[in-house]
Amino acid sequence: MAEIIDGKLVSTSLRNGIRKETDRFRDEHGYVPGLAVIIVGDDPASKVYVRNKKRACLEVGFNSYEIVLPEETSEEAILEKIEELNRDDAVHGILVQLPLPKHIDQDKVINAISQHKDVDAFHPANVGKILTGGYTLLPCTPAGVISLLDYYNVEIAGKKCVVLGRSNIVGKPMALLLLERNGTVTVCHSKTANLSDEIKSADILVVAIGRPEFVKGSMIKEGAVVIDVGINRTEDGRLVGDVEFKSASTVASMITPVPGGVGPMTITTLLRNTLTAAKKTAK
Ligand code: NDP
Repeated sequence: MAEIIDGKLVSTSLRNGIRKETDRFRDEHGYVPGLAVIIVGDDPASKVYVRNKKRACLEVGFNSYEIVLPEETSEEAILEKIEELNRDDAVHGILVQLPLPKHIDQDKVINAISQHKDVDAFHPANVGKILTGGYTLLPCTPAGVISLLDYYNVEIAGKKCVVLGRSNIVGKPMALLLLERNGTVTVCHSKTANLSDEIKSADILVVAIGRPEFVKGSMIKEGAVVIDVGINRTEDGRLVGDVEFKSASTVASMITPVPGGVGPMTITTLLRNTLTAAKKTAK
């Protein structure tokens, strides 16, 4: 049976470290890092995510500012709010909860966030730095995956890494971070030919496709490390990943569960980014 990669455990350990660093930062500078989250409309899932982020901020000693705007808010009003937060010295990180209502241009909003406060690392300037190196703000979910691999001493260098999914949020930055660690990386997507051969070749398999239990144990190489980014709700209300945990855990050497694997790591990276952003501007 595979060893479980426990995202809650790693997350708690890293957040304890962030909490201690925040205490030191406060003693040195007389203020704490602040994260502002903008939520537009009342999508129930988004509300839960925002609540979790707020709770996590308070736990590590940050200030948390929640800006709740009605669904019909104009793009102009959101951009003005972002400008205001860009200028606010108490705010070190700004995050806009996605998705935004249809009448708002998501890219325009993301591009308006100061690249120095862009703690989701979605701004093109920060995305570019992930490609060229020298980045300070990490892409939250992919960097969370790297932290998990590091915590469990999984060697990436020289390993065949296969990433399923090529979204801007997960798949693409994930591939770049694995490449930076000297993995030999293949990125697969919905048009990939011989997908099962690609999956079978992976020493480290990262799955982020949003298809419930798509990857079965029989598709995985014996002894592979399997990271399941997917979060899917089944018709009977269960939360499952993109990997069929039961069958995959009999073949893999290590595997992340859903929930309790990658999920908690995304917010942990967000906290790390907010602290990094605050440190960068501290006098
Ligand atoms: P997207 O829908 O943006 O991207 C899905 C990707 O998977 C696309 O590149 C798509 O290919 C590819 N894909 C879809 N179906 C197949 C298939 N049958 N075979 C091969 N490739 C396929 O999803 P996200 O990247 O945003 O999210 C992926 C999953 O991760 C979701 O379940 C999401 O909920 C979860 N997630 C979890 C997070 C966490 O904190 N744990 C954070 C973010 C996401 P193509 O490009 O060709 O269409």
